[in-house]
Amino acid sequence: MTVENTFAGLALADPILRAIADAGYTTPTPIQAQAIPQVLQGGDLLAAAQTGTGKTAGFTLPILHHLSTRAAQAPKPGRPRCLILVPTRELAAQVEESVKTYGKYLSLTSMVMFGGVNINPQFKALKSRVDILVATPGRLLDHVGQKTVDLSGVEILVLDEADRMLDMGFIRDIKKVLAVLPKTRQNLLFSATFSDEIRTLANGLLHNPKSVEVARRNTTVEVVEQSMHRVPQAHKRDLLAHLIKHHDWQQVLVFTRTKHGANKLAEKLIKDGITAAAIHGNKSQSARTKALASFKDGSVRVLVATDIAARGIDIDQLPQVVNFELPNVPEDYVHRIGRTGRAGATGSALSLVDDEEMGYLRDIEKLIKRSIVRVEIEPGFVPPAKADLMSDERPPRPPQGRGAPRQNNGPRQGQPSRPAQPGSRNASGRAPQGKPAGGAKPAARPAPDRAGANHPAQPRKPRPQAALFSSKPGSRGH
Ligand code: AMP
Repeated sequence: MTVENTFAGLALADPILRAIADAGYTTPTPIQAQAIPQVLQGGDLLAAAQTGTGKTAGFTLPILHHLSTRAAQAPKPGRPRCLILVPTRELAAQVEESVKTYGKYLSLTSMVMFGGVNINPQFKALKSRVDILVATPGRLLDHVGQKTVDLSGVEILVLDEADRMLDMGFIRDIKKVLAVLPKTRQNLLFSATFSDEIRTLANGLLHNPKSVEVARRNTTVEVVEQSMHRVPQAHKRDLLAHLIKHHDWQQVLVFTRTKHGANKLAEKLIKDGITAAAIHGNKSQSARTKALASFKDGSVRVLVATDIAARGIDIDQLPQVVNFELPNVPEDYVHRIGRTGRAGATGSALSLVDDEEMGYLRDIEKLIKRSIVRVEIEPGFVPPAKADLMSDERPPRPPQGRGAPRQNNGPRQGQPSRPAQPGSRNASGRAPQGKPAGGAKPAARPAPDRAGANHPAQPRKPRPQAALFSSKPGSRGH
């Protein structure tokens, strides 16, 4: 290992290196190898990196280095030296957790601040020293307005997931925050995409920035065939069993939102004669390892997993992923379907979407910047009679992340249901040739689009199965 691709080679302070070693990281990720030296030099940075690339440590580590090694004024309560702005509370919590992890041998202090929770504990926390503040824009402005936070001492500003902040309409809030920051400071802007809006923001914010970029992970857009069925939650288990049999899927990874839901679904499939296993946080490590091994060797056709459980395993090149429920965090969708279609192979991701999930669907489509093809359920499926329905069909839903609960409005305005195109794959993930009647039928409105050009009807190559898997418990699952 050369010095350049070790953390020690990046000249970070010793206590930080120790914390990195404790976290089990041996090698900087590409974004870290590029961004850390730039941030350590002190200039502004424009970084193109998505979640999952290790970007958080890419900015957190050099920030901790600066703050712990630079001479500073005596700390004052509620007057941070570094401000990290993020779009969502989940991300805020995650980033602050990283700050704590990597800064555990330093005497710096941090705080996380977001809306939707009682503000009083935040007032209290701001009465103490806070070196690093991780915040969502709205709640931060509340505090600025009430003068409970003092941003005049900010030496380093980070805008993390800037594209999402703009998508979520935070531009005005960001500008208000910028207006109360000291003029001289270091600015770091991280974004997964670079729209004109982001460039405009970057031009106004950054001074002679260095830019770094890492290859986009192989995400949804190019290689994974994505489709969805609108289906009531109560029909989903039967529909899934039907689809597996009808299309003779041999290897399917299914995501559910709850552990209980994962168990119930696996039980139902087994009852219907389909080999299945569930993995989630309540299962012992040995049970999970066993389930995964059986899935790999083909003795179990269906692995039902929660997002958290799936994170610890590296499953490559799966032919079929099913979202039994949509995740409420749109990035989880990208993580889930990134399990298929890797390494240049195409894969198929089918989502079963209940009316109540349409808001999540819209968030996901916004994130991936394309619409997911709505496909009608094939006529061969007979929904279960009422009496057969189990009482606990619907998993408990957290409040929708962004604003008020949404109603189902059907297809978005300007984005009508799109049919599976001739030559494209249908919901089964197969080219529709040869089996027109039994396969999924396109929803209304036959309108040509370019899907056909991207996916010419070709016989599907048989897919190698078990050999493509590798299990790496504890590996970076994102
Ligand atoms: P992020 O893109 O910042 O959300 O990071 C994704 C995941 O990668 C997190 O779970 C980190 O703990 C992990 N991670 C970050 N840097 C490294 C590294 N150098 N080696 C191994 N894992 C890492």
